[in-house]
Amino acid sequence: MVRVQRAMRVRELALIRVLDERGRIDDSLAAVDGVSIREVRQTVATARALEDLPSIAAVAAAGRLSDAQLAQVVRVADASDEHLWAQRAPDWSPADLAQRARELRTPTIEDAQTRRAARELRTWWDPDQGMLRLRGALPDVDGATFEMVVKQIAEGMRPAPGHPWETFERRSADALMRMVEAYRERRTDVTTTVPGAHLVVQVPVSGPATVVGIPLPDQMVETLRASARIEPHLVDEHGDLVAIGRTEAVVSAKVKRAVLLRDGKCRIRGCAVRGPLDVHHLIPRSWGGTDTMVNLAAVCAGGSGHHGALVPQGPYILLGNPNQPDGLVLLRVDDLPALAQLATEHAPRSARAGPDAA
Ligand SMILES: [Zn+2]
Repeated sequence: MVRVQRAMRVRELALIRVLDERGRIDDSLAAVDGVSIREVRQTVATARALEDLPSIAAVAAAGRLSDAQLAQVVRVADASDEHLWAQRAPDWSPADLAQRARELRTPTIEDAQTRRAARELRTWWDPDQGMLRLRGALPDVDGATFEMVVKQIAEGMRPAPGHPWETFERRSADALMRMVEAYRERRTDVTTTVPGAHLVVQVPVSGPATVVGIPLPDQMVETLRASARIEPHLVDEHGDLVAIGRTEAVVSAKVKRAVLLRDGKCRIRGCAVRGPLDVHHLIPRSWGGTDTMVNLAAVCAGGSGHHGALVPQGPYILLGNPNQPDGLVLLRVDDLPALAQLATEHAPRSARAGPDAA
């Protein structure tokens, strides 16, 4: 029965494609068929994709792919590798196929900005219960950082001798309050209670880097890289771990300390933030910048700080000599006249010496 149903579904998709080509399908079909508009759109997308994927269509027609598997595999396969996916897909769960589809597409910095723009934390009182209720959403890196820190604090909370364990949900709530109290008492050592808390960004051989399975734009990975430690994992052709290399900081701890000591605060003029600070590459590594003191400056950290507004992630560039107290200027990367003027000011003396220089 399942096989027959699935085979019929493939024939239905072929018919939908024909109607679609004749412009006979729109969202109103949802009402007629008693399905959601989203379902109609997904069905049309599957029907269109299937046209260029004959091997997958054949496997589906033989009843070997569920509707959910079919909807995802057409997002993963293209004409060059569809014969391989036709063999593999019946053994993959729809969730794994969906994850693969997400990983295949490296998000743009605009995608990351859209995600960031959707961040929120709402609180409202439930007066009958006397409880403050929370609801919110945090984007990729912020979300992973929040989850990691709360989890580590909660896991570190042990019951007093003779007392039972509190549930993980209760300890997570306590972890949140511990962070709030630490801030209120102006203590900054809340993170010292979670030794070795570090965010893991997976950088695969091909495809985008991910944090907890969520793909990140390349520019964002580069911004994170300056404060990263890299642990190389050697994998075989199936992606299975063969060996783990020595963990090393991208910018050495010594250079980082020297930069933080030299700067002491965010180096954006007018910004008084003294922490948390990130070490920022004035000229990004991918543009040929180095890991030396003259190319590094402290800026206030994270997506909410100045770091996220700077290249390669943001539209601003901090330029000049960080070793001088007023040596840095902030410019927009698209402000060519200002960049040209800065280049002239910083050119070697001989280049500026005109006929009357003597
Ligand atoms: Zn700042």
